[in-house]
Amino acid sequence: MGVEHDEFEHALAAMKKAKKVELDTGLSADDLKNLVDEYKKIVKKHAKKDFPQDPVDQMWGATNAVFGSWMNDRAIKYRQINEIKNVKGTAVNIQSMVFGNFGDDSGTGVCFSRDPSTGINKFYGEYLMNAQGEDVVAGIRTPEKIATLEKKNKKVYDQLVAIKDRLENHFKDMQDLEFTVQQGELFILQTRSGKRAGAAAVKCAVDMVAEKLITKEEAILRVSPDHLDQLLHPMIDPKAFKTAKALTKGLNASPGAACGRIVFTAKDAEEWNAKGEKVVLVRKDTSPEDIGGMVVSEGILTSTGGMTSHAAVVARGMGTPCVAGAKGVSVQGKKVVIGGTSFKEGDWITIDGSTGNVYGEKLSLIVPSISKDMSLFLSWCDEVRDASVRGDITGFKVRTNADQPEDVKRAFDFGADGVGLCRTEHMFFEKEKLIHFRAMILADNIDERKAALKKILPLQKKDFFGIFKAMNGRPVTIRLLDPPLHEFVPHTKAEIAEVAAHLNVSVKDLQPKIDRLHESNPMLGHRGCRLAVTYPEIYDMQVEAIALAAVDCLKKKIPVHPEIMIPIVCDERELAMIRPNAETIIKNVMTKAKVEIPVRIGTMIEVPRAALLADKIAEYADFFSFGTNDLTQMTFAFSRDDVASFMPSYLEKNILEVDPFKSIDEEGVGMLIDIAVKKGRGMKGDFKVGICGEHGGDPQTIDFCYRAGLSYVSCSPFRVPLARLAGAQAVIRNASAKK
Ligand code: PEP
Ligand code: MG
Repeated sequence: MGVEHDEFEHALAAMKKAKKVELDTGLSADDLKNLVDEYKKIVKKHAKKDFPQDPVDQMWGATNAVFGSWMNDRAIKYRQINEIKNVKGTAVNIQSMVFGNFGDDSGTGVCFSRDPSTGINKFYGEYLMNAQGEDVVAGIRTPEKIATLEKKNKKVYDQLVAIKDRLENHFKDMQDLEFTVQQGELFILQTRSGKRAGAAAVKCAVDMVAEKLITKEEAILRVSPDHLDQLLHPMIDPKAFKTAKALTKGLNASPGAACGRIVFTAKDAEEWNAKGEKVVLVRKDTSPEDIGGMVVSEGILTSTGGMTSHAAVVARGMGTPCVAGAKGVSVQGKKVVIGGTSFKEGDWITIDGSTGNVYGEKLSLIVPSISKDMSLFLSWCDEVRDASVRGDITGFKVRTNADQPEDVKRAFDFGADGVGLCRTEHMFFEKEKLIHFRAMILADNIDERKAALKKILPLQKKDFFGIFKAMNGRPVTIRLLDPPLHEFVPHTKAEIAEVAAHLNVSVKDLQPKIDRLHESNPMLGHRGCRLAVTYPEIYDMQVEAIALAAVDCLKKKIPVHPEIMIPIVCDERELAMIRPNAETIIKNVMTKAKVEIPVRIGTMIEVPRAALLADKIAEYADFFSFGTNDLTQMTFAFSRDDVASFMPSYLEKNILEVDPFKSIDEEGVGMLIDIAVKKGRGMKGDFKVGICGEHGGDPQTIDFCYRAGLSYVSCSPFRVPLARLAGAQAVIRNASAKK
């Protein structure tokens, strides 16, 4: 009837205060009768009509309220967050009621056939005697552990255990059950596959294969890529424990550690987040209205509620660390006392959702390594991808986009099959390298440029060596320079003065050179291979550094597999010019070192013209890699850097279903990819084709890439495990779709 829930809560709280009782069950029948009268008055006041007294009217009212809830703010927000689209509405299920609040031989609870946080195969759950379901999930009374029910009512407990076993065997998945005991009789209200934390998803999948409940393929489909993402959530750096002491401990409701500034409302969480701040949402409890703030929070801390409270269930589902029901936490307005210490909005705290500990300071976090279960699970994913066959293409690999040896090492540890994109301009973000890079792009003539390049060559060679070493013989695709120049020219007074001093010129003399580099559309400007068309010596230096680094590896008996990639190609004649130059340099280095290391030279396909003319381009390329960031930018004519001002409207108004920079636009950009794959392979049968735009780590795009016949996807190191799984899921899903 559109009356705010809070109105009733206030009336109830006032009644309990007047009667000096803590729990609803402390109220007498007369109190409840009076409360009902109060409720009726509230309805009359706000809804401007009487509460219906005919049960059939009540039922229709309730039914329509459920239908209507589809369009309330929190449901809309939930669908947005979970990208649920094109679903017409909700269903309504009407069933007769049983009462868990019929006295002390009645009760209600929520249970899971396995632990939803860890996946351990142990009956798990909580219940409250003399209570209704809302009391358990709302977290107002702290429920008891399911194991204690065995002592209270062995018959009901045994029955419940038998039913959960039967349901799990039937559905072959971990079940989330709701039950009510009415005067000693057990009723199951509902069962569904339980939402679970990432660790639990992997553990359940691995255990259920061992128990022969499901096949490896079914296990692979059970774990979502988001689950794996969660597993690589940070944890508190063990070194921090030397000095850090927990202020209090709550329930370890959703694993992982989170560190951020305290906020007390969902709205504040969203506002602070919009300002770029990391926040931890601290509340007495949470409700569905808080969903927007929960999503943007690093972690959630509540002072009440159990493992099945709203905060715990939602946080687990989202993979957000959560400590719930922390009794040592007391929230009052925009202040909180944690274990005796006071904090205000904006203060830093760290919570550990794996242990339940709460720390009153900013602690450093580290990313965990892959567990034994996860490693086994991912090895099944690799088997599936490696065995996949599409026409002449066997296997579907996962590479990484990484530019620094330590990132490459991390990706290697996460199971990357190689480097799909090493952006060489990113290697210049470090201060000591940046100065030489700036000197190079500001050079007036070839001699000045060559002088700067000479300084850069050993630095590049060292980085390349580190990357080859970290990949230990797996293919490494190094992309030659593609710097959007505006990212590298000095901007501030201090930067300009520093570069002037380095070049031994005055700021006044330097300024016109900087001005000359200004471009109206830098993303469509003097970048990628266009730089090599004007200044061939830049790519020459890079190719030499790659070849020298490879030779060094060989000398140190480190296996090496270099690949060189040319960016922003739009015409085969660009490659026809650049490729022979590169080949000559490689040959010279190898001849001098008396070794031979094959170096393949390929190109990125990121300009629509290149995709359309891919057959001509393939003549000069040993492989293609789709740079879908630029390909999307240039196909839509949406500037990558400027979409934020209009993309939200496009999504809201359903002109686009998803942001095409996140998930590939199969219809348009996908068509160009299809054309390029066919034309490229038409020229050269066993041509390797991959993707290295940001889309390479997006599960939906990975499915498309598999269907489009790509040989590999490449994504950031942290997304490698997720891509190993998403790739295997694509293989399985598409095989069963064919059947
Ligand atoms: C791309 O365009 O997709 C790509 C990988 O290159 P960059 O993002 O460096 O332009
Ligand atoms: Mg690009």
